[in-house]
Amino acid sequence: MTDPTANLRDASLTKAILAEVRRIATQPWNIMEICGGQTHAIMQYGLDQLLPPEIALIHGPGCPVCVTSLQAIEQGLQIASRPGVIFTTFGDMLRVPGNQADLFTARSQGADVRVVYSPLDSLKIANANPGKQVVFFAIGFETTAPTIASTILTASRNGIKNFSILPANVLVPPAMHAILSNPTNRVQGFLAAGHVCAVMGYHEYLPIAEQYQIPIVVTGFEPVDLATGILMAVQQLEAGQHEVTNAYPRFVTREGNQVAQKIISQVFEPVDRQWRGIGTIPLSGLGLQPEYSSFNASSRFELDQTPLYESPLCIAGKVLSGIAKPLDCPAFSKECTPAHPLGAPMVSSEGACAAYYRYHRIPG
Ligand code: SF4
Repeated sequence: MTDPTANLRDASLTKAILAEVRRIATQPWNIMEICGGQTHAIMQYGLDQLLPPEIALIHGPGCPVCVTSLQAIEQGLQIASRPGVIFTTFGDMLRVPGNQADLFTARSQGADVRVVYSPLDSLKIANANPGKQVVFFAIGFETTAPTIASTILTASRNGIKNFSILPANVLVPPAMHAILSNPTNRVQGFLAAGHVCAVMGYHEYLPIAEQYQIPIVVTGFEPVDLATGILMAVQQLEAGQHEVTNAYPRFVTREGNQVAQKIISQVFEPVDRQWRGIGTIPLSGLGLQPEYSSFNASSRFELDQTPLYESPLCIAGKVLSGIAKPLDCPAFSKECTPAHPLGAPMVSSEGACAAYYRYHRIPG
């Protein structure tokens, strides 16, 4: 069978596009790829090493596992450890360090923690276990929100009382505002995450481009997609433009998936949210609408406030804000490795530190 993405991985085409970047770049430019999936693709295909020295790629906060707050992880650990609870989560969250432990350790100590591929799987588990409370750890960006919202609607319609979520979804545009308004910001152009824009469209980025006078290019995940996104960003930067353009038209439209957006806003409302290592970003999370608040596990269970502890060696907040790169972290590949992670970016399949480790950007 022919691989439909084969020509999007064409090395000659990718190199030709990057040669054009080299030809037109007259000065240094810093471009942030927002999504951790894009960071991994850049490392996997060595695009960072093919770029001219003028173009620096800055890795963004778009790793949902990495930015899930320590407080939410601690709440998840507390809930998972209760008798009569089945705690369900995407697999990436298992090894993310909390204060002392992670969900993997909790499971080895007897907690019923199960990996699911969709929140609907959690609902099936709830249906099959009427005597248990089933809690889904609702993490992710705008990409996971529609399925989580539709699961809540199904649970509500069917009167399922033993299912709830621990809400931790986050939103991209408020994070872009936070990055751009930071006095230490170095980002001059963005590659927006194609899959987020497939859901939300890109109309919500227009005011950001205008306010901060910055080009934003909706970009996909294959080497040709990424090279094209970088070229389109550099073309704008060199021309002094600040438009929102679409380098991923095969999946993204200006308005996005309006059915999915409607489901999201039916179930969720924007709330302030803590981002791990970064802090609270106003209206950057999705909380349950009052009508669905009974599905909120953090109010269904009585939870203790625990003091939060981060490794003093970990600079994940700086890495996620684009202020530092994984190689700037003194613990990288020493105290911190995928086998013994000190921070979430070394655990997640979308974490920048894991990408540098996996694709051998290891000094010396
Ligand atoms: S290498 Fe490890 S300790 Fe350093 S920032 Fe990344 S996750 Fe944190």
